[in-house]
Amino acid sequence: MDGVLKPGRYINGEWNAARKEWDYALLKVALCFPDIYEIGMSHLGMKIIYGILNNEKDVLCERVFTPWNDMEQKLRAMGEPLVSLENRKPLREFDIIGFSLQYEMGYVDVLNMLDLGNVPLRSEDRGDSDPIVIAGGPCAFNPEPMVDFIDAFVIGEAEEAILEMANVVKGLGCRVKNSRQNILQELSKIEGIYVPAFTLSAYGETSPATSGGHPSPFTLHPKPFTINKRIIKDLNNAYFPTSPVVPYIQIVHDRITIEIMRGCPHQCRFCQACRIF
Ligand code: SF4
Repeated sequence: MDGVLKPGRYINGEWNAARKEWDYALLKVALCFPDIYEIGMSHLGMKIIYGILNNEKDVLCERVFTPWNDMEQKLRAMGEPLVSLENRKPLREFDIIGFSLQYEMGYVDVLNMLDLGNVPLRSEDRGDSDPIVIAGGPCAFNPEPMVDFIDAFVIGEAEEAILEMANVVKGLGCRVKNSRQNILQELSKIEGIYVPAFTLSAYGETSPATSGGHPSPFTLHPKPFTINKRIIKDLNNAYFPTSPVVPYIQIVHDRITIEIMRGCPHQCRFCQACRIF
């Protein structure tokens, strides 16, 4: 950490951080926020998904944030991969890599994190031994700019869908022969999940972006192009993190979050907040 501006971004071991044995987990998920620690640790959605997955006995979920420039330069100079905070495992050793897409400016950090983690950038270049790369969050409502890089998008609220996806990947067994095709095919059958490689678009091809020179490597499994967003019908009984991770360093929203509602009732036509919840 010599010469690194804020080592507290990378050291792990915070109060309430998950402590799970790597070798005992049947499914390993890297929960990635494409921005620095102080931003990602302020995001409630990360805390919710982190808690839901780590509440499962046989699932392990670890945090990964974009390193600041000083740390990235060190990693690249030393030839070291980007690792998770908890067990310090390289991204490519996880079964699922999940990105939270909160704003389009984070897209370059998605690619940078995959590159630093030694994961092929394009979906078509990934094989059975590579992780499944998924993404959710508000920007997943307009997934086409990222379809070349993301294997499956979660459209809508992810609390229930992420467990259904975890069960599919766990059940089919990751990193075995033909597992990738089977897993993506089964994921595409879950409500709210958009798998570009298996979905016929209005253009009669795979997604518009992939039809321009990057055809699907798989046999298409036609399904209606409309993907219905997922909604949590009963927020009162939905999971909420009552023991969130407490950072060692000051983060942007340096306080506990209490969610009293989602969306906005004012229905301004231009605003996403009243459309996606
Ligand atoms: S702009 Fe969006 S968040 Fe603001 S009042 Fe209108 S609908 Fe609500």
